[in-house]
Amino acid sequence: MCTTPDDADARRAIPPVICYPVETLPQPDMALYLAARAGAKVIETVTAAPRDAASFTVPAGHFFRISSVQGPQVGDLNLWNANDLTERFFSGKTRALHGTHVTTGDRLWSNLPHLRPMATVTHDTLGWYGIDQFGGSVHDVIGTRCDPYTHNLLSGGQYHHCCHSNLTRALSDHTGLSLAEAEPHVHDVLNVFMCTGFTRDTGQYFMKASPVRPGDYIEFFAEIDLLGALSACPGGDCSSEHSSDTAACYPLQIDILRPAEGALGTWQPPAANGYDRSHGR
Ligand SMILES: [Zn+2]
Repeated sequence: MCTTPDDADARRAIPPVICYPVETLPQPDMALYLAARAGAKVIETVTAAPRDAASFTVPAGHFFRISSVQGPQVGDLNLWNANDLTERFFSGKTRALHGTHVTTGDRLWSNLPHLRPMATVTHDTLGWYGIDQFGGSVHDVIGTRCDPYTHNLLSGGQYHHCCHSNLTRALSDHTGLSLAEAEPHVHDVLNVFMCTGFTRDTGQYFMKASPVRPGDYIEFFAEIDLLGALSACPGGDCSSEHSSDTAACYPLQIDILRPAEGALGTWQPPAANGYDRSHGR
């Protein structure tokens, strides 16, 4: 049994403190990126089929754009350093730094011991959405990716087109790694276009129909050479369920854009993190 202390209200009334004030975080040069974006040309287009994933590579200093086509659809994005699969997107620290959802100006950070920006959001047509009355917002770094293990725990059965499996197959196909070798490289995602939040009363993770419509896109500047994989989630717009073939699903388009020659001036990819890794010994 837990007993409520006499000063419970006073303890609850303590105002919160932001864990990571980001004033000292190295800021992206958005003016430079936007100028480079203005003259950028599409050099490759890749499509993630419904309930499947596609891989793509983006050289450092290029852009990639994920677009809704045909119908509302949510995507699960993984990013790796194209030259080193052990450096990959760190959803948890990105969330700690930028909050539960990302938009223009926010960055996708890599895991320890790297912890540097992998990509910067340069345009988000859903930036207008903000935070709705339920606490929901778009492009979350909360969720982990739908996966067949959680599905098996909760519902039983074998479902093979969860984002986790789609990403595993895409990485395997791209690298030549076996499925068993590729799977441990698949990691927590950026939920592109997904509208999520936490319920105020029970603190549970919720999803709701994505506000994305064909023509909407989110665009990124690649800070380092990237290998990406994007799964068109079997949940479709995630208005009801995932981990099944029930929802209406649509493809997602990925465009790779190259800026005009010289548009980035003296820009250089971010250096490795400055911590010396001696860990006190
Ligand atoms: Zn999914």
